[in-house]
Amino acid sequence: PLVLVLIGAVALSFVMKEWLDACAVLFVVLLNALLGVIQEYKAERSLEALKKMASPRARVIRKGEMIEIPSESLVPGDIVVIQTGDLIPADIRLIESFNLEVNESILTGEQFPVSKESDVVLNKNTIVAERKNLCYMGTMATTGRGSGIVVATGKDTEMGLIASSLGVIKKEKTPIEKRMSGLSKWLLCIFLSVSFLVFILGIVRGEKFQGMFLEATSLAVAAIPESLPAIVTIVLSLGVLKMSKINAIVRRLASVETLGSTSVICTDKTGTLTENRMSVTHVSYDNNILKIEDANPYNPNLEKILEVSFHCNDAYIKDNSKLGDPTEIALLEFKEKMRKDLNLYPRVKEIPFDSRRKMMTTFHKKDDKSLIVYSKGAFEVILDRCSLILHKNKIEKLTRSLREEVGNTAFKMTEKGLRVLGFAYSCLNTIPDLIKEEDLIFLGMVGIEDPLRAEAEASIKECKKAGIRTIMVTGDHSQTAKTYAKKLGIYNDKTSLISGEELSYISKGELAKRINEISVFARVSPEDKLKIIEALKESDSIVAMTGDGVNDAPALKKADI
Ligand code: ADP
Ligand code: MG
Repeated sequence: PLVLVLIGAVALSFVMKEWLDACAVLFVVLLNALLGVIQEYKAERSLEALKKMASPRARVIRKGEMIEIPSESLVPGDIVVIQTGDLIPADIRLIESFNLEVNESILTGEQFPVSKESDVVLNKNTIVAERKNLCYMGTMATTGRGSGIVVATGKDTEMGLIASSLGVIKKEKTPIEKRMSGLSKWLLCIFLSVSFLVFILGIVRGEKFQGMFLEATSLAVAAIPESLPAIVTIVLSLGVLKMSKINAIVRRLASVETLGSTSVICTDKTGTLTENRMSVTHVSYDNNILKIEDANPYNPNLEKILEVSFHCNDAYIKDNSKLGDPTEIALLEFKEKMRKDLNLYPRVKEIPFDSRRKMMTTFHKKDDKSLIVYSKGAFEVILDRCSLILHKNKIEKLTRSLREEVGNTAFKMTEKGLRVLGFAYSCLNTIPDLIKEEDLIFLGMVGIEDPLRAEAEASIKECKKAGIRTIMVTGDHSQTAKTYAKKLGIYNDKTSLISGEELSYISKGELAKRINEISVFARVSPEDKLKIIEALKESDSIVAMTGDGVNDAPALKKADI
């Protein structure tokens, strides 16, 4: 509104033949617009370049091999492989699905993920939201796995149809823009009423109408702070410029302000504070912790652990290309390093990994009559599902004392800052209708190392100096998280750690009260991450969130920046 009034003032000044005033105000208006446009254009261009680099990629099967290609080179008929966290690259008809859930809110408005099944066959007139056997471009797989045949790409997809009918989408205003326009409306009201009052008083005193009109308008024009919009833009541009010199791209000028007022940063551990370049370094069975170089690959426990690593795994390594979850890539590499000669049993069913369950199970056909079940996941979760243990070459009952011993061993591993995964298996003589993950035989654990990012510690120190608190929010085990947090200076004697389980007993209001002393949240689910952000906002913090996984997505959206 202020800029509009300024333009009005320019017009009036011209009418009143106040050339100098007119030119000065016009200059300010143009400068203001120019700075804004240049800045946003530059940012938009760098973002474009970034987008090209990180253009969506799709995993397809061509000539019998899985390869990764840019999504734009997909054609109808391609077979696309979908995993948790993938953005669906085209409209596809599923041919295989395992617990697949897709968030279609962007298309249908349905807030919760919907389950998809390849086996159902639907009537031709089924509405988009109910087509369980199709996945749509732009929606996101939140759980599970599947594959399907591309039936439409680009503008022929459901999303494409909507996009072409929509045209341009209106941008949401940022807090500072809203406040600025509020302020200028207020100022405007005050100036106009004061000038109007002066005008009326003049007339009442018997001044001439025309003279008084000129007097009142020039008063209004003079009172308007013509440089206000320009100054705000200039200050924000300086911020953006400074950021671009250190390789940070800011798309909207006003985001700089939100960034500047940040008081808390919630950061994910894996991939953000660490490199997400995982490797198996330790393995544990029979209550020993061994470096992998010292372990005997023909030990029955280790042999089975390797079998699980290999079978209960969706990663894919070929020559130099590694596709899949870094944890699983590490396990595949571990298996390759230890043994090259393991039996391959075809996978018949599976329950995919899920950040909430924190485990994954696959079912394999051993022969016509029997199935072999392989599970891996967070060690305490796996231990909970086991009733037996392979201990010193014998399958024994998993007694309370054995359970405790395993727990202690795991604790020692987490203290080293290792990501600890538990392994289990079982054999079934029949193929059950309902697959379950229970009564498993515990095998042991592996410890995975994930190096800290070199720059992480310094960044956190710098934040502290700037008065910004850093909170670690991770799905990993409490002790592992604590070890990393101590190294980074996030956790000390004055702060505390809360696990996802404790978090579920605390209400949001209570959490908001206590949040100032908590610096690490461990074993949390995606929903917990959201709850933490909401509690922080409730305690009047400006919250920034960083994360790179699907499990961070809801919280990222909720954070101020
Ligand atoms: P984060 O990325 O914050 O560490 P996740 O939700 O990805 O959290 O993982 C939580 C836990 O689930 C991990 O600590 C690990 O024990 C287990 N886990 C992670 N990936 C897998 C996987 N592919 N298969 C089985 N278990 C896994
Ligand atoms: Mg993860």
